[in-house]
Amino acid sequence: MYGLGILKGLGVTIRHFIDTYKNDVFYGFNKGKPAEEFGVRQGTKSEGIYTVQYPDEKVAVPERFRFTPFLVVNDADHPDAPGEDWCTSCGICSKVCPPQCIWIVRGTDPATGRPVPQPEAFFIDIDICMNCGFCAEFCPFDAIKMDHDYEMSNYDRTSVNIHDKERLSKPFSYYRSIAPTTAEEEADARGGWEHTDVIKEKKKAEAAAAKAAAAAAPKPAAVPVAEATADAAPVAEAVTAPAPEASADDEEQKKAERLAKREAALARKKAKGE
Ligand code: SF4
Ligand code: SF4
Repeated sequence: MYGLGILKGLGVTIRHFIDTYKNDVFYGFNKGKPAEEFGVRQGTKSEGIYTVQYPDEKVAVPERFRFTPFLVVNDADHPDAPGEDWCTSCGICSKVCPPQCIWIVRGTDPATGRPVPQPEAFFIDIDICMNCGFCAEFCPFDAIKMDHDYEMSNYDRTSVNIHDKERLSKPFSYYRSIAPTTAEEEADARGGWEHTDVIKEKKKAEAAAAKAAAAAAPKPAAVPVAEATADAAPVAEAVTAPAPEASADDEEQKKAERLAKREAALARKKAKGE
């Protein structure tokens, strides 16, 4: 029928129009639950036309949302190494970064002058970063992650938009708060919530302690040779003893049975031939 498509399209528009106000009434009572509001209204179950009054209202971003990278460091209340970098300055992230906007200066031991697995300086030019997330994907130490903070406008891009180590560093608890599911998956893969190296050291220490405990444990007493041979003798006898011979009567009986069977078979054959 002519015009049916137009009517269907208008029907969809009218339904969205009604849903918009239906949702406004419903969510008007749930202003304190932005995550739930976002999940429904910006997800696959979205209904109506949805606008927030930004910056007074902000839509929660999904966990996998990525903006600029940041460096993970230990929390300030970490018992052993508060604020320590997770980055080992291996340089993989700077190698894989497509627009090459990461600069790293590896740290050195002041006493020996030898390189240490820590970045002395770390810069990311946020103007060049294209938020691809390759650095976070490739980091073998889960030390660089993609942030959710998208409010970075400023009046001086030449100096402010090159983020240094201090600006980039954020505690691990922050990462867990913005990406709880991913953080848990990564911790499962590493074998714990700590940095990979710390987990490795703990496992090494546990293995060494277990080995030392096994070495210190009393060994089982050796069995005296005389006792052992005395016990073993009857077994040897049992193995080497000849099997009891079948009696002569049994043999005669079996022979008679075989002969009887043979006679019967011959008789049947003879009867068939006649
Ligand atoms: S952030 Fe990761 S990949 Fe980049 S230098 Fe540090 S440890 Fe290596
Ligand atoms: S997100 Fe992509 S472009 Fe930005 S620093 Fe990481 S690898 Fe480079």
